[in-house]
Amino acid sequence: MPAPKKKPPAAAKAPVKIEDKLARLGLRSDMDLALHLPARYEDETQILSIAEAGMRGMQMVQVEAIVTLCDIQYRPRRQLVVTVADDSGQLVLRFLNFYGNQTKQLAAGTRVRVRGELRHGFFGAEMVHPTYKVVLEGAPLPDALTPVYPAGEGLSQSILRRAIASALKRIDWHDTLPAAALDTLKLTPFDSAVRLLHNPPPDVDEHALEERSHPAWIRMKFDELLAQQLSLKRAQEARRARNASALPNVGSLSAAFLAQLPFALTAAQQRVLDEIRTDLRASFPMQRLLQGDVGSGKTVVAALAAAQAIDSGFQAVLMAPTEILADQHFRKIAGWMEPLGISVAWLTGSLKKKEKTAATARIESGEARLIIGTHALIQDSVQFDKLGLVIVDEQHRFGVGQRLALRNKALDVTAADDAQTVPHQLMMSATPIPRTLAMTYYADLEVSVIDELPPGRTPVVTRAIDQIRRDEVIDRVHSAAQEGRQVYWVCPLIEESEALQLQTATDTHAMLVEALPDLRIGLVHGRLKQVEKQEVMDAFSRGEIHVLVATTVIEVGVDVPNASLMVIEHAERFGLSQLHQLRGRVGRGAAASACLLLYQSPLGGTAKQRLMTMRETSDGFEIARRDLEIRGPGEFLGARQSGEAMLRFADLATDQWLVEKARNLAQTLLKSEPAIVDAHLARWLGGREDFLKV
Ligand code: ADP
Ligand code: MG
Repeated sequence: MPAPKKKPPAAAKAPVKIEDKLARLGLRSDMDLALHLPARYEDETQILSIAEAGMRGMQMVQVEAIVTLCDIQYRPRRQLVVTVADDSGQLVLRFLNFYGNQTKQLAAGTRVRVRGELRHGFFGAEMVHPTYKVVLEGAPLPDALTPVYPAGEGLSQSILRRAIASALKRIDWHDTLPAAALDTLKLTPFDSAVRLLHNPPPDVDEHALEERSHPAWIRMKFDELLAQQLSLKRAQEARRARNASALPNVGSLSAAFLAQLPFALTAAQQRVLDEIRTDLRASFPMQRLLQGDVGSGKTVVAALAAAQAIDSGFQAVLMAPTEILADQHFRKIAGWMEPLGISVAWLTGSLKKKEKTAATARIESGEARLIIGTHALIQDSVQFDKLGLVIVDEQHRFGVGQRLALRNKALDVTAADDAQTVPHQLMMSATPIPRTLAMTYYADLEVSVIDELPPGRTPVVTRAIDQIRRDEVIDRVHSAAQEGRQVYWVCPLIEESEALQLQTATDTHAMLVEALPDLRIGLVHGRLKQVEKQEVMDAFSRGEIHVLVATTVIEVGVDVPNASLMVIEHAERFGLSQLHQLRGRVGRGAAASACLLLYQSPLGGTAKQRLMTMRETSDGFEIARRDLEIRGPGEFLGARQSGEAMLRFADLATDQWLVEKARNLAQTLLKSEPAIVDAHLARWLGGREDFLKV
């Protein structure tokens, strides 16, 4: 674009280009736009008289009337109040946000078409925040439903409609599916489905459109699911085609390790261990996700997998998302392994240069058999002697993009001395994913589930308490401490401001120090230096601190069995899985544990649902299921983070039957129709295939 000759005077910031705004919604190509389907439709094809509209109850209606009065009122708050009338009656429109020029636009005598929900208020029929259009008498009505597209910031419906209409003139309309498949599966052709959804004909079954059960929707969902299945299966094939070193020996280390454990494995731990052991014997890389609720004992299983690698003459790596957690693993696992003569190395980003050099030397020479640290382990180009297995703990804590990088990096690390082999991978996650989701999203991962907690755990009693009753909670903390128990007091993440977050934690700490002068109160937050964090955590582990005030840094895996009371401030601000993770920090010992969710009233609808769920169940899978219900699969899986939803149309809760069909067709196409597979993937994913894998 040529530079403008004269800059307009007030152009401080260049406006964001429409293409960029569209790109933020993942709309880059014409096909992306064509597949950006309406979220819903508005019916502007009918006009009701005000009297008729008044009898429709709370539903969207459209009336056409003449403005009789337009006025700004100041009570109970500033608002624009417009009275309109037709032959049948009159109606008041209220706008709480409005522009100055609206009073001119809506001057008495103007004819307007108004859409909104009509209700009967104290002053008669009214609509709050209706949409409206100034029209001339006899202006034609649209004869089809008007699509409403999912929009982003700064993108109006009219911009989207224009962009989509113009894209529809350019795209390649050919049907990627073979005619025979359309026939057997009774699917609508691609072009008619897309056209219908953008421009529904006047006689369309509106209900089916809304419910997304219309054949046009079914076709779109099917295509989307097919693309997903194809991409996952391709990734799976690619993995199976790679080589890994077989790790066949469950030998003396494994045996000695098991023998010295102070407990027996649960049946569930034994089962997933067997699954992992089988994978590790294969000469293509394992790619297994180990899911288990908080406290289900994943660490021991990971250590036993590592033992198999070591027994087979290879090195193993264990990575955790934070230093606190990595450190805890290091102490625990080194404590188990070193007495058995296994050298364990510790490697994180915060090591001093000298220590790091020493550690990397031990790793490179092969002296260190097990290496524990943060993901700095893979970021820095550490040379391994013979790396056979990479374990990633709390995999869900990494963002989607990070997870992808981690996974690709891990695959890039050359195992052993052969450039063609890659290490086996075990990912662990405490955020259980409902089975239906796991099957579709993680189709190229094997999934193991620990569905049982070690014996002797006492359930955590959970209560939601209005924060005005804080004094009672403080008393409770006091008596717990006097009984020799320890307490976590968690402050929420404040997204807008880290400084503010720090402030709340510091204030809470000061408040507790004052309220509980006879107790030792510690404070840990993200801004502390690593050593300082560690000191506080250690003191808490040793029982020298009664109450630990913490930001969400303690969310991941911290294991202090003597802590039996957890208070969560502003619990309404936390997500369900986060609350569940946090609560998992207590109930690890034999003592009865409790979790008190302090909330600020009034509670919003979903916040209330979340707190109720926490009170009602402690089963991570049930919580995940409800979370999915509350948030929908896209957000549930953190798709928002990547900016691109993974499944936009299909709903795994209601469309399972389509998943099966898509999976079957995917299998057939992959076998015999590679060109069709390519065309379909290009149309639906256009370079985003990777995001389906994490
Ligand atoms: P998570 O799955 O949340 O990572 P951990 O591996 O930290 O759980 O285990 C939680 C606690 O349970 C640890 O203290 C661990 O030593 C203990 N534990 C693990 N397996 C068993 C078992 N089979 N019997 C008794 N305690 C166990
Ligand atoms: Mg853990």
